[in-house]
Amino acid sequence: MNFTARLNRIKESLTIGMAKKARELKAEGKDVISLSLGEPDFDTPQHVKDAAIRAIDAGKTKYTPVGGIPELKSAICNKFLRDYNMEVAPSNVMVSTGAKQCIMNAILSIVDHNQEVIIPLPYWVSYSEMVNFAGGKCVFIPSKFEDGFAIDLEALERSISDKTRVILFSSPCNPSGSSLSHDQLQQIANIVKKHPHVTVISDEIYEHINFEGEHTSISQFDGIKDQLIIVNGVSKGFAMTGWRIGYMVGPKSIIAACDKLQGQFTSGANSIAQWAAAEAINGDMKPTQHMVDTFRGRRDLIVELLSEIPGIETDTPKGAFYLFPKVSALYGKEFGGRTINDSLDFCDYILNTALVSLVPGVAFGMDEHVRISYASSEEELREAMARIKAALT
Ligand code: PMP
Ligand code: GLU
Repeated sequence: MNFTARLNRIKESLTIGMAKKARELKAEGKDVISLSLGEPDFDTPQHVKDAAIRAIDAGKTKYTPVGGIPELKSAICNKFLRDYNMEVAPSNVMVSTGAKQCIMNAILSIVDHNQEVIIPLPYWVSYSEMVNFAGGKCVFIPSKFEDGFAIDLEALERSISDKTRVILFSSPCNPSGSSLSHDQLQQIANIVKKHPHVTVISDEIYEHINFEGEHTSISQFDGIKDQLIIVNGVSKGFAMTGWRIGYMVGPKSIIAACDKLQGQFTSGANSIAQWAAAEAINGDMKPTQHMVDTFRGRRDLIVELLSEIPGIETDTPKGAFYLFPKVSALYGKEFGGRTINDSLDFCDYILNTALVSLVPGVAFGMDEHVRISYASSEEELREAMARIKAALT
């Protein structure tokens, strides 16, 4: 079968690919510890499940408006007022099947062939593939582990050309767990203001998984509202990955464009899940707080355990539930009769020898690193780190 050029431009997601490999090995009876998929290991809070059950019982089981049910849009508007003191109208809001679809909608709507999307490294695996699918060009900005993966603002400004349509990043960041400071976001806003043809897509899906102080949203800065799309969702902060609800807030014209696109592709997101998401966004934050406190404890544990493994260097990330350690000191070395030359080799060796699945850093644009998701129990993390240590010493 000949597939389209557009399909051939993209690769399979390595986060999903590594999780699939781990599942296959488990199905063969192997005792694999999966630290590859970015998914909270907590259950969805009971009050959110109850809202979904109420929605089913009330017959909320029909097609929904393409851009989302009014009750969820209104919960999102209230959230923006409550958390960022920002007035947002329902016509600025669009609900989709996960934040993933929001980002894809936005890119397909505003990025044309050969137009450029600036993406600071390291970046979430799907960004580059979405841009490739749309026919756009990624312009990557390098960052350094030693600088806490901070965005090089001079390089960012230098990269803006008349072909630039979008600057795309996540904060807290998947895969590095780093968060942009108030000052850095202010500087990004100042740069963007000078280039009215550029739109920022700020992916804030890890907003709540923040270990040091409050999340700062770029929406809090003045003068760039017309150039801003904020993407968020309930997958991470409310342990709702399978419910598939994400949303974006942005200029009315972009929301209308995404509405047109989604209306032809998938229609409104799942009706029952939208009622559940409204409850999550409006409701009690205690379950989220508990989850974040637990993640903080696991982060500290895994940073400590990892620091005992020679050749692996890690920082202490401020958010999300990932570590993105540098492992390149081990490249060129031989383990169990094979030489590890890159992050793919490293993850393959660790998966086959230690039965621990990780994601190669190359998926996120930085081959010197690997990503470890610590959304697993302390017991599993201890066992996984012990196995990795044994495989590397
Ligand atoms: N953005 C980032 C940075 C992510 O890590 C994820 C996780 N899948 C998503 C977007 C998409 O989230 P979802 O589609 O589950 O809402
Ligand atoms: N965002 C998660 C991850 O990075 C889920 C998998 C995916 O959608 O890529 O692992």
